[in-house]
Amino acid sequence: MPPSRQVKDYIRTIVDFPHEGIFFRDVTTLFSDPRGFRMAIDQMLHPYAGERIDKVVGLEARGFILGGAIAHQLSVGFVPIRKKGKLPGPTISQDYKLEYGEAVVEIHDDAIRPGEKVLIVDDLLATGGTCAAAIKLIERLKGDIVSCAFVVDLPDLGGRKVLEAMGMDVHTLCT
Ligand code: 5GP
Repeated sequence: MPPSRQVKDYIRTIVDFPHEGIFFRDVTTLFSDPRGFRMAIDQMLHPYAGERIDKVVGLEARGFILGGAIAHQLSVGFVPIRKKGKLPGPTISQDYKLEYGEAVVEIHDDAIRPGEKVLIVDDLLATGGTCAAAIKLIERLKGDIVSCAFVVDLPDLGGRKVLEAMGMDVHTLCT
């Protein structure tokens, strides 16, 4: 029997995107395959069996696709964290450093109630900067973060260490 396909096998690498020298891990090929997508969602959910989760927070944009499916599976609400200027209601903002320059993410200021148990979801963990900014937003709303779940970890970029130093539980499906 041929070895069965793993989540990693559905992800393709695009060389020189979005800049020369970058190996972009493209998860659209995972999302577009019914077995691959279901496998990823099932595996992302696995560590939280029996755990209380009240809200899933997804990070723009691929975190919306994963987070929406996970929230549906858990029968809980979904909350987007978006880049500056995209959310229509009153928001709070958090800036964070990029390789070149800064970025800002926002959340609706009434999206999380104090004490709600929150699962953060995104496709890929690199430096951890995006997720660290999301953590700060959720903590400012007094949400209680259960864990941060990603499909891909790029360990050389140190994101897991950054999040763990913030006291976070981190789960990833592949490196
Ligand atoms: P970080 O903030 O951890 O450095 O970068 C992670 C964020 O950038 C995530 O929101 C992720 O979607 C995006 N990202 C960075 N590099 C890649 C990549 O190679 N593939 C994908 N799919 N997303 C990436």
